[in-house]
Amino acid sequence: MEEFSSCPFKYFCDYGLGITERKEFKVYAVDLGNLFHGALEYFSNLVKKRGYRWKEIPEEVQETMLDEAVDAVMDASIRDVMDSSARNRYKKQMVRRILSRTVKVLCYHLRNSAFEPDRFELKFGPGDSLERTKIPLEDGHRIALKGVIDRVDLYEEDDKIYLKIIDYKSGSRKFDINELYYGLQMQLVVYLNAAVEIYRKETGKEVEPAGIFYYQLQDPIQDESKVSGQKGMNVFRMTGYANSDTDIIDLLEHGTRNLESFSLNITNSGLPEKRANVWETNDFVRVGDYVTKTMKKIGDRVYSGEIKASPYLLGGQTPCDYCSYRPVCGFEPGDPGQEVRLLEKHKKEEILDKIREEVKEDGLHS
Ligand code: SF4
Repeated sequence: MEEFSSCPFKYFCDYGLGITERKEFKVYAVDLGNLFHGALEYFSNLVKKRGYRWKEIPEEVQETMLDEAVDAVMDASIRDVMDSSARNRYKKQMVRRILSRTVKVLCYHLRNSAFEPDRFELKFGPGDSLERTKIPLEDGHRIALKGVIDRVDLYEEDDKIYLKIIDYKSGSRKFDINELYYGLQMQLVVYLNAAVEIYRKETGKEVEPAGIFYYQLQDPIQDESKVSGQKGMNVFRMTGYANSDTDIIDLLEHGTRNLESFSLNITNSGLPEKRANVWETNDFVRVGDYVTKTMKKIGDRVYSGEIKASPYLLGGQTPCDYCSYRPVCGFEPGDPGQEVRLLEKHKKEEILDKIREEVKEDGLHS
Protein backbone atom coordinates (compact mmCIF):
# COMPACT_ATOMS: atom_id res chain seq x y z
CA MET A 1 0.00 0.00 0.00
CA GLU A 2 2.91 2.33 0.79
CA GLU A 3 4.38 1.73 -2.67
CA PHE A 4 0.94 2.15 -4.15
CA SER A 5 0.35 5.54 -2.60
CA SER A 6 3.65 6.97 -3.81
CA CYS A 7 3.40 5.63 -7.37
CA PRO A 8 3.16 8.40 -9.97
CA PHE A 9 0.91 6.25 -12.18
CA LYS A 10 -1.77 5.59 -9.57
CA TYR A 11 -4.14 8.07 -11.24
CA PHE A 12 -4.00 6.34 -14.61
CA CYS A 13 -3.60 2.60 -13.98
CA ASP A 14 -6.57 0.45 -13.10
CA TYR A 15 -4.90 -1.81 -10.59
CA GLY A 16 -7.03 -3.24 -7.79
CA LEU A 17 -5.57 -4.41 -4.48
CA GLY A 18 -8.34 -6.73 -3.34
CA ILE A 19 -11.83 -5.49 -2.60
CA THR A 20 -11.19 -3.50 0.58
CA GLU A 21 -8.01 -1.87 -0.67
CA ARG A 22 -9.58 -1.10 -4.00
CA LYS A 23 -12.43 0.67 -2.26
CA GLU A 24 -9.94 2.70 -0.24
CA PHE A 25 -8.14 3.56 -3.46
CA LYS A 26 -11.33 4.55 -5.21
CA VAL A 27 -11.99 7.23 -2.62
CA TYR A 28 -8.47 8.51 -3.12
CA ALA A 29 -9.10 8.69 -6.85
CA VAL A 30 -12.53 10.31 -6.41
CA ASP A 31 -10.56 13.51 -5.77
CA LEU A 32 -11.70 15.37 -2.70
CA GLY A 33 -11.07 18.67 -4.51
CA ASN A 34 -13.81 17.84 -7.02
CA LEU A 35 -16.18 16.93 -4.19
CA PHE A 36 -15.61 20.30 -2.51
CA HIS A 37 -16.09 22.19 -5.75
CA GLY A 38 -19.17 20.19 -6.69
CA ALA A 39 -20.78 20.63 -3.27
CA LEU A 40 -20.05 24.36 -3.18
CA GLU A 41 -21.55 24.81 -6.64
CA TYR A 42 -24.64 22.84 -5.64
CA PHE A 43 -24.97 24.84 -2.42
CA SER A 44 -24.63 28.12 -4.32
CA ASN A 45 -27.37 27.11 -6.73
CA LEU A 46 -29.63 26.27 -3.78
CA VAL A 47 -28.97 29.73 -2.33
CA LYS A 48 -30.10 31.32 -5.62
CA LYS A 49 -33.02 28.99 -6.15
CA ARG A 50 -34.40 29.58 -2.66
CA GLY A 51 -34.02 33.32 -2.92
CA TYR A 52 -31.44 33.91 -0.16
CA ARG A 53 -28.66 36.48 -0.19
CA TRP A 54 -25.39 34.97 1.02
CA LYS A 55 -24.96 37.46 3.82
CA GLU A 56 -28.42 36.67 5.19
CA ILE A 57 -28.67 32.87 5.20
CA PRO A 58 -29.70 31.70 8.70
CA GLU A 59 -27.21 29.25 10.18
CA GLU A 60 -29.68 26.36 10.45
CA VAL A 61 -30.63 26.83 6.77
CA GLN A 62 -26.92 26.80 5.84
CA GLU A 63 -26.52 23.44 7.56
CA THR A 64 -29.59 21.87 5.94
CA MET A 65 -28.60 23.06 2.48
CA LEU A 66 -25.04 21.83 3.04
CA ASP A 67 -26.33 18.34 3.86
CA GLU A 68 -28.37 18.44 0.66
CA ALA A 69 -25.35 19.56 -1.34
CA VAL A 70 -23.02 16.89 0.08
CA ASP A 71 -25.63 14.19 -0.54
CA ALA A 72 -26.20 15.38 -4.08
CA VAL A 73 -22.54 15.33 -5.12
CA MET A 74 -21.86 11.98 -3.50
CA ASP A 75 -23.84 9.74 -5.84
CA ALA A 76 -24.87 6.27 -4.71
CA SER A 77 -21.62 4.55 -5.69
CA ILE A 78 -19.36 7.13 -4.01
CA ARG A 79 -21.57 7.15 -0.91
CA ASP A 80 -21.25 3.40 -0.75
CA VAL A 81 -17.47 3.70 -0.88
CA MET A 82 -17.44 6.59 1.59
CA ASP A 83 -19.30 4.46 4.12
CA SER A 84 -17.14 1.39 3.51
CA SER A 85 -14.43 1.91 6.16
CA ALA A 86 -13.58 4.04 9.18
CA ARG A 87 -10.97 5.87 7.14
CA ASN A 88 -13.45 6.76 4.42
CA ARG A 89 -16.14 7.75 6.91
CA TYR A 90 -13.59 10.09 8.46
CA LYS A 91 -12.91 11.59 5.02
CA LYS A 92 -16.62 12.12 4.46
CA GLN A 93 -16.89 13.92 7.80
CA MET A 94 -13.87 16.00 6.88
CA VAL A 95 -15.47 17.07 3.57
CA ARG A 96 -18.66 18.04 5.44
CA ARG A 97 -16.67 19.90 8.12
CA ILE A 98 -14.57 21.89 5.66
CA LEU A 99 -17.64 22.77 3.61
CA SER A 100 -19.51 23.93 6.67
CA ARG A 101 -16.61 26.12 7.73
CA THR A 102 -16.14 27.43 4.19
CA VAL A 103 -19.78 28.49 3.84
CA LYS A 104 -19.68 30.20 7.26
CA VAL A 105 -16.52 32.07 6.32
CA LEU A 106 -17.81 33.08 2.89
CA CYS A 107 -21.00 34.45 4.46
CA TYR A 108 -18.87 36.25 7.05
CA HIS A 109 -16.69 37.76 4.31
CA LEU A 110 -19.75 39.03 2.48
CA ARG A 111 -21.68 40.43 5.43
CA ASN A 112 -20.31 43.99 4.94
CA SER A 113 -19.81 43.81 1.22
CA ALA A 114 -21.77 45.30 -1.64
CA PHE A 115 -20.73 42.31 -3.76
CA GLU A 116 -22.85 39.21 -4.22
CA PRO A 117 -21.69 35.90 -5.72
CA ASP A 118 -23.01 35.87 -9.28
CA ARG A 119 -21.53 32.88 -11.13
CA PHE A 120 -19.99 29.61 -10.02
CA GLU A 121 -17.91 27.25 -12.16
CA LEU A 122 -17.89 29.73 -15.04
CA LYS A 123 -16.37 27.91 -18.00
CA PHE A 124 -14.43 29.22 -20.98
CA GLY A 125 -12.58 27.32 -23.65
CA PRO A 126 -11.57 26.73 -27.27
CA GLY A 127 -15.11 26.67 -28.71
CA ASP A 128 -16.25 30.03 -27.32
CA SER A 129 -16.07 33.48 -28.90
CA LEU A 130 -13.63 35.03 -26.39
CA GLU A 131 -10.63 36.78 -27.91
CA ARG A 132 -8.42 37.32 -24.89
CA THR A 133 -8.07 33.61 -24.27
CA LYS A 134 -6.98 32.82 -27.86
CA ILE A 135 -3.31 33.67 -28.30
CA PRO A 136 -1.82 33.71 -31.81
CA LEU A 137 1.76 32.42 -32.09
CA GLU A 138 4.55 33.44 -34.47
CA ASP A 139 4.27 30.33 -36.65
CA GLY A 140 0.51 30.62 -37.21
CA HIS A 141 -0.53 28.28 -34.41
CA ARG A 142 -2.94 29.57 -31.79
CA ILE A 143 -3.18 28.75 -28.11
CA ALA A 144 -6.79 28.44 -26.90
CA LEU A 145 -6.94 28.61 -23.11
CA LYS A 146 -9.63 26.79 -21.19
CA GLY A 147 -10.64 27.00 -17.56
CA VAL A 148 -13.36 26.95 -14.94
CA ILE A 149 -13.64 30.02 -12.71
CA ASP A 150 -14.79 28.87 -9.27
CA ARG A 151 -16.67 32.03 -8.39
CA VAL A 152 -17.33 35.52 -9.74
CA ASP A 153 -18.76 38.13 -7.35
CA LEU A 154 -20.42 41.18 -8.78
CA TYR A 155 -21.43 44.69 -7.89
CA GLU A 156 -23.46 46.45 -10.55
CA GLU A 157 -24.19 50.11 -11.17
CA ASP A 158 -26.23 51.61 -14.00
CA ASP A 159 -23.45 51.65 -16.54
CA LYS A 160 -20.68 49.72 -14.82
CA ILE A 161 -19.87 46.33 -13.35
CA TYR A 162 -17.22 45.51 -10.76
CA LEU A 163 -15.83 41.97 -10.68
CA LYS A 164 -14.17 39.92 -8.00
CA ILE A 165 -12.62 36.59 -9.05
CA ILE A 166 -12.21 33.84 -6.44
CA ASP A 167 -10.55 30.48 -6.82
CA TYR A 168 -10.88 27.81 -4.09
CA LYS A 169 -7.69 25.94 -3.34
CA SER A 170 -7.62 22.69 -1.42
CA GLY A 171 -3.81 22.79 -1.01
CA SER A 172 -1.74 25.52 0.61
CA ARG A 173 -1.55 27.64 -2.55
CA LYS A 174 -1.26 31.37 -1.93
CA PHE A 175 -1.02 34.17 -4.45
CA ASP A 176 2.65 34.93 -5.17
CA ILE A 177 3.59 37.90 -7.32
CA ASN A 178 7.06 36.47 -8.04
CA GLU A 179 5.46 33.29 -9.40
CA LEU A 180 3.17 35.38 -11.55
CA TYR A 181 6.12 37.38 -12.89
CA TYR A 182 8.00 34.23 -13.89
CA GLY A 183 4.93 32.71 -15.57
CA LEU A 184 4.43 30.06 -12.88
CA GLN A 185 1.13 31.30 -11.48
CA MET A 186 -1.00 32.96 -14.14
CA GLN A 187 -4.34 31.29 -13.43
CA LEU A 188 -6.16 34.10 -11.59
CA VAL A 189 -5.12 36.72 -14.13
CA VAL A 190 -6.21 34.50 -17.05
CA TYR A 191 -9.54 34.05 -15.25
CA LEU A 192 -9.88 37.80 -14.82
CA ASN A 193 -9.13 38.43 -18.51
CA ALA A 194 -11.77 35.88 -19.49
CA ALA A 195 -14.40 37.10 -17.00
CA VAL A 196 -14.00 40.77 -17.98
CA GLU A 197 -14.61 39.88 -21.63
CA ILE A 198 -17.54 37.56 -20.83
CA TYR A 199 -19.34 40.22 -18.75
CA ARG A 200 -18.54 42.99 -21.23
CA LYS A 201 -20.04 40.96 -24.06
CA GLU A 202 -23.07 39.85 -22.07
CA THR A 203 -24.01 43.23 -20.61
CA GLY A 204 -22.44 45.83 -22.92
CA LYS A 205 -21.34 47.64 -19.76
CA GLU A 206 -17.93 48.87 -18.67
CA VAL A 207 -16.28 46.20 -16.46
CA GLU A 208 -13.73 47.04 -13.77
CA PRO A 209 -11.70 44.54 -11.72
CA ALA A 210 -12.22 44.79 -7.96
CA GLY A 211 -9.84 41.96 -7.08
CA ILE A 212 -8.46 38.49 -7.74
CA PHE A 213 -8.21 36.08 -4.80
CA TYR A 214 -7.40 32.57 -3.69
CA TYR A 215 -9.49 31.13 -0.88
CA GLN A 216 -7.85 28.22 0.93
CA LEU A 217 -10.20 25.34 1.83
CA GLN A 218 -8.96 24.48 5.31
CA ASP A 219 -9.83 21.84 7.84
CA PRO A 220 -10.54 23.75 11.08
CA ILE A 221 -10.20 20.65 13.24
CA GLN A 222 -6.44 20.84 12.73
CA ASP A 223 -6.36 23.56 15.35
CA GLU A 224 -9.82 24.72 16.36
CA SER A 225 -8.38 27.18 18.91
CA LYS A 226 -6.76 29.17 16.11
CA VAL A 227 -9.99 29.64 14.21
CA SER A 228 -12.51 30.34 16.95
CA GLY A 229 -13.95 33.78 17.52
CA GLN A 230 -13.84 36.82 15.29
CA LYS A 231 -10.06 37.09 15.45
CA GLY A 232 -9.77 33.49 14.31
CA MET A 233 -11.43 34.45 11.05
CA ASN A 234 -8.12 36.05 10.01
CA VAL A 235 -6.84 32.54 9.29
CA PHE A 236 -9.35 32.38 6.45
CA ARG A 237 -8.44 35.66 4.79
CA MET A 238 -7.99 35.33 1.07
CA THR A 239 -4.72 36.09 -0.72
CA GLY A 240 -4.39 38.01 -3.95
CA TYR A 241 -4.72 41.63 -5.14
CA ALA A 242 -7.51 44.16 -4.67
CA ASN A 243 -8.17 47.36 -6.59
CA SER A 244 -6.45 50.30 -4.86
CA ASP A 245 -9.38 52.66 -5.48
CA THR A 246 -10.77 53.40 -2.03
CA ASP A 247 -14.35 53.58 -3.36
CA ILE A 248 -13.95 50.03 -4.69
CA ILE A 249 -12.34 48.88 -1.42
CA ASP A 250 -15.37 50.31 0.36
CA LEU A 251 -17.62 48.23 -1.91
CA LEU A 252 -15.56 45.15 -1.09
CA GLU A 253 -16.05 45.79 2.64
CA HIS A 254 -17.55 48.93 4.00
CA GLY A 255 -17.39 50.41 7.45
CA THR A 256 -13.92 49.12 8.33
CA ARG A 257 -10.31 50.14 8.03
CA ASN A 258 -9.08 46.58 8.48
CA LEU A 259 -10.62 44.24 5.95
CA GLU A 260 -11.69 40.83 7.18
CA SER A 261 -11.86 38.97 3.87
CA PHE A 262 -8.41 40.02 2.74
CA SER A 263 -5.36 41.43 4.48
CA LEU A 264 -5.69 45.15 3.77
CA ASN A 265 -5.55 48.05 6.18
CA ILE A 266 -6.53 51.63 5.48
CA THR A 267 -4.30 54.32 7.01
CA ASN A 268 -5.42 57.53 8.74
CA SER A 269 -5.03 59.35 5.45
CA GLY A 270 -7.75 57.11 4.01
CA LEU A 271 -5.44 55.24 1.62
CA PRO A 272 -4.39 51.57 1.60
CA GLU A 273 -1.24 51.03 3.69
CA LYS A 274 2.00 50.82 1.75
CA ARG A 275 2.48 47.07 2.12
CA ALA A 276 -1.07 46.25 0.96
CA ASN A 277 -1.49 44.07 -2.11
CA VAL A 278 -3.32 46.54 -4.32
CA TRP A 279 -3.15 47.57 -7.97
CA GLU A 280 -4.76 50.44 -9.84
CA THR A 281 -7.27 49.46 -12.53
CA ASN A 282 -4.69 50.18 -15.24
CA ASP A 283 -2.22 47.89 -13.50
CA PHE A 284 -4.77 45.06 -13.53
CA VAL A 285 -4.97 45.62 -17.29
CA ARG A 286 -1.17 45.74 -17.60
CA VAL A 287 -0.78 42.53 -15.60
CA GLY A 288 -3.45 40.93 -17.82
CA ASP A 289 -1.52 41.93 -20.93
CA TYR A 290 1.75 40.76 -19.39
CA VAL A 291 0.31 37.32 -18.70
CA THR A 292 -0.98 37.04 -22.29
CA LYS A 293 2.46 38.06 -23.56
CA THR A 294 4.15 35.51 -21.30
CA MET A 295 1.83 32.74 -22.54
CA LYS A 296 2.68 33.66 -26.12
CA LYS A 297 6.42 33.51 -25.38
CA ILE A 298 6.03 30.07 -23.78
CA GLY A 299 3.90 28.85 -26.72
CA ASP A 300 6.44 30.14 -29.27
CA ARG A 301 9.25 28.34 -27.45
CA VAL A 302 7.36 25.05 -27.25
CA TYR A 303 6.37 25.19 -30.93
CA SER A 304 9.94 26.02 -31.93
CA GLY A 305 10.96 22.70 -30.34
CA GLU A 306 12.23 23.90 -26.95
CA ILE A 307 11.02 21.10 -24.70
CA LYS A 308 14.07 20.51 -22.52
CA ALA A 309 13.39 19.69 -18.88
CA SER A 310 14.48 22.92 -17.23
CA PRO A 311 13.02 23.24 -13.72
CA TYR A 312 13.29 26.50 -11.82
CA LEU A 313 14.50 27.23 -8.32
CA LEU A 314 12.63 30.11 -6.69
CA GLY A 315 12.85 30.88 -2.99
CA GLY A 316 14.32 27.43 -2.31
CA GLN A 317 11.42 25.67 -4.08
CA THR A 318 11.61 23.59 -7.23
CA PRO A 319 8.66 21.87 -8.95
CA CYS A 320 10.64 18.59 -8.94
CA ASP A 321 9.91 18.25 -5.20
CA TYR A 322 6.24 17.46 -5.94
CA CYS A 323 6.41 16.24 -9.52
CA SER A 324 4.87 12.86 -10.41
CA TYR A 325 7.09 12.52 -13.48
CA ARG A 326 10.36 12.55 -11.59
CA PRO A 327 11.07 8.83 -12.15
CA VAL A 328 10.65 9.16 -15.91
CA CYS A 329 11.64 12.68 -17.02
CA GLY A 330 15.39 12.05 -16.92
CA PHE A 331 16.34 15.29 -15.16
CA GLU A 332 19.24 14.74 -12.76
CA PRO A 333 20.43 17.86 -10.96
CA GLY A 334 24.21 17.95 -10.91
CA ASP A 335 24.64 16.10 -14.23
CA PRO A 336 26.40 18.15 -16.90
CA GLY A 337 23.97 20.46 -18.70
CA GLN A 338 21.19 19.79 -16.20
CA GLU A 339 21.13 22.79 -13.93
CA VAL A 340 18.04 24.26 -12.39
CA ARG A 341 17.14 27.78 -13.52
CA LEU A 342 17.76 30.08 -10.57
CA LEU A 343 14.99 32.72 -10.43
CA GLU A 344 15.70 35.78 -8.35
CA LYS A 345 13.00 37.01 -5.96
CA HIS A 346 11.98 40.65 -6.28
CA LYS A 347 9.92 43.04 -4.19
CA LYS A 348 6.37 43.46 -5.43
CA GLU A 349 6.94 47.12 -6.35
CA GLU A 350 9.94 46.13 -8.48
CA ILE A 351 7.88 43.48 -10.22
CA LEU A 352 5.10 45.92 -11.02
CA ASP A 353 7.68 48.33 -12.47
CA LYS A 354 9.12 45.53 -14.62
CA ILE A 355 5.63 44.56 -15.84
CA ARG A 356 4.77 48.19 -16.62
CA GLU A 357 8.02 48.45 -18.61
CA GLU A 358 7.42 45.16 -20.40
CA VAL A 359 3.93 46.00 -21.69
CA LYS A 360 4.63 49.70 -22.32
CA GLU A 361 5.81 49.24 -25.89
CA ASP A 362 2.66 47.35 -26.93
CA GLY A 363 0.19 49.80 -25.45
CA LEU A 364 -2.59 48.65 -23.17
CA HIS A 365 -4.97 46.00 -24.45
CA SER A 366 -8.07 47.51 -22.91
S1 SF4 B 1 10.85 16.11 -12.09
FE1 SF4 B 1 11.27 16.39 -14.27
S2 SF4 B 1 9.29 16.81 -15.24
FE2 SF4 B 1 9.07 17.10 -13.03
S3 SF4 B 1 9.42 19.30 -12.70
FE3 SF4 B 1 11.38 18.28 -12.40
S4 SF4 B 1 12.35 18.37 -14.40
FE4 SF4 B 1 10.19 18.81 -14.74
